[in-house]
Parts: sequence; C-alpha cells; structure tokens
Amino acid sequence: MDKETLNIVVPVYNEEKTIDLFFTETEKVIREISELEVDYLFVDDGSQDSTLEKIKKLQEQNPHVHYLSFSRNFGKEAAIYAGLEYASGEYVAIMDCDLQDPPALLPEMYRLIAEENYDCVRCRRVSRKGEPIIRSLCARLFYKIINKISKADIVDGARDFQFMNRKVVDAIVSMKEYNRFSKGIFGWVGFKKKWLEYENVERVAGETKWSIWKLFHYAFDGIVAFSTVPLTFSSYVGLLFFMIAFIMIIVIIVKTLVFGDPVAGWPSLACIVIFVSGIQLFCMGILGQYMAKTYLESKNRPIYIINEKDI
Ligand code: UDP
Ligand code: MG
Repeated sequence: MDKETLNIVVPVYNEEKTIDLFFTETEKVIREISELEVDYLFVDDGSQDSTLEKIKKLQEQNPHVHYLSFSRNFGKEAAIYAGLEYASGEYVAIMDCDLQDPPALLPEMYRLIAEENYDCVRCRRVSRKGEPIIRSLCARLFYKIINKISKADIVDGARDFQFMNRKVVDAIVSMKEYNRFSKGIFGWVGFKKKWLEYENVERVAGETKWSIWKLFHYAFDGIVAFSTVPLTFSSYVGLLFFMIAFIMIIVIIVKTLVFGDPVAGWPSLACIVIFVSGIQLFCMGILGQYMAKTYLESKNRPIYIINEKDI
C-alpha cells in the first residue's frame, strides 16, 4: 500500500542562516515517523538573501524538497496560506524555520492524530523566556483583550506550529480573506484539537522579523479581523455623552432661572469642545479602520503572487 503523505510547510523570509540547520534537525526526527512519506514545501516569502539558492541546493540532494517563491515579501500569513493551498498530502504540518518549533514533537503529534482521532494538534509555549519583558507584557495584554471581545478561540502563547489532517487544511484554505490573521483563523475553523505545551525555545540563528511596531500593527489587525466590538464602542460613548449633555442643559437652565446669567465658564467650555471632538475623531478612526479593511477585501486581490515554483 502507498504511504500517506505529510507536507511540511515552512514559510521562510531571509533565513539563509537557519535553513540548513532546520533541514538537518527535522530530517533526524522524521525517520521516526516511518508510516508517512514526508515532503517539504518551503515558501520563500520574497527573501532578499540567498534563501532560495539554499533551498535549491537542498533540492539537489533531496527530491522531497519543493518550493514556492513569491514575487515580493507578502508576509508570513500569506506564505502559510500558499503552502496550505499547494500541499496535497493527507497531513500537513506548519513549522517556522528558526527551530523555535521543535521538530522533536512531530512524531507525538502524528501519533495523536493517527491513534487518538484528533483532527489537529497545535502547540503553545508556556513561557516567553528570552523575550524582552515589554514584548511579553504587551502580548499578554493583547490576548486578554481579544479574548474578551472576540468569539474566535485565540490562545495566549499559541504558535503557528501545528499538525493537521486534510479536513482542517481544506477548511483553512476555504477562508480566502485578504486580511489573514492566522491565529484567529486556526481557532475559528474548530475541529477536535489537542494542545501540546512547551517552554519557549530561542531562535537558532538569524534575527526575528518582528519589531515592536510590526507587532502592534499585527495585534490591531487581529482585533479588526475577529471582532466588531470596537464599532459598538462609539455608539455607547455617543449615548453616554448625549445623556451627560442632557443633564447639563437642565442644570444650566435651572441655574440661569434661579441665579441669573453671569457669563462665565469659557475655559471649561473650550475643554469640553476639544474633549468631545477628540472622542469623535477617535470613533471615526475606528470606523475608518473597518472601512479600510472592507475596501481592501472588496478589491479581491490575490493573497500572494508566485515568481518561481517547483512542486
Ligand atoms: N516569515 C515569513 N515572512 C515574513 C516574516 C517571517 O515567512 O514576512 C517566516 C520566518 O522566516 C520564520 C517564521 O516566519 O520561518 C517566523 O518568523 P520569526 O522567527 O521572525 O518570528 P517569531 O518567531 O519571532 O515570532
Ligand atoms: Mg522565530
């Protein structure tokens, strides 16, 4: 009988330093899963260094290595999507190239799916050892907020590292949205899921592609993609201000009738005008964010563009 195939999807962006290390480490472990035929699918996300050449060299030595190469950097989310779209095996694993996703977990992940009937095995790190404190604090805060205001199951410390069967892959590929927040999408599709936990592992070589600013944008995109609560925020604030204004009008009328009308209170009036217009602009900004996303979504642009491929 033919063996079932596992596609290992690896998004890579400027990873010339880590790609060989990743491949050697993963190859060592992969032999333990003798039931599966393993194919690698590297998705080169528009790297400017020699990442693609390295992948081609690997391919010369190993026919199980395949690649897609984008015309520019489209982001990890797009790379994951492309990988899943092209992966045709019965199982798919998504892994980072920097060995922060320990390949040693793969055999256990496969066992859980094959023997315990899980559809998807996902990983989360229980510590953020080696990460700047500010970054950890912001991340914690983000997960607290998004879980309060969104129905998607977005778990703190969840990595993109996972092993899934065809059903889950098809469900994710069917979500063709342009603004892809994978952490939300993976939770949103549901299915029987098992979480594996491990201590944070630091990147073997090279540097993270995430600056604090990029992370801030990512968090913001996540909220806009998976919650509409910020939109209701403006309605509530509007209502609150309406009520305050109403009470103030009555107070002023009564005061004028009882005490006459001394012209006073201009500084406080100026403050109120600035304060309220600030809130108005803020709410318009929120509305604008959602409109901008809708605008981009309605253009129906492709999520990625392929320059070269071998699959
Ligand atoms: N990556 C990518 N496109 C990008 C940024 C990152 O494909 O625009 C890949 C990167 O090569 C790596 C994985 O995504 O394999 C995780 O990136 P990184 O280690 O920088 O993120 P972190 O682990 O710090 O969250
Ligand atoms: Mg990393």
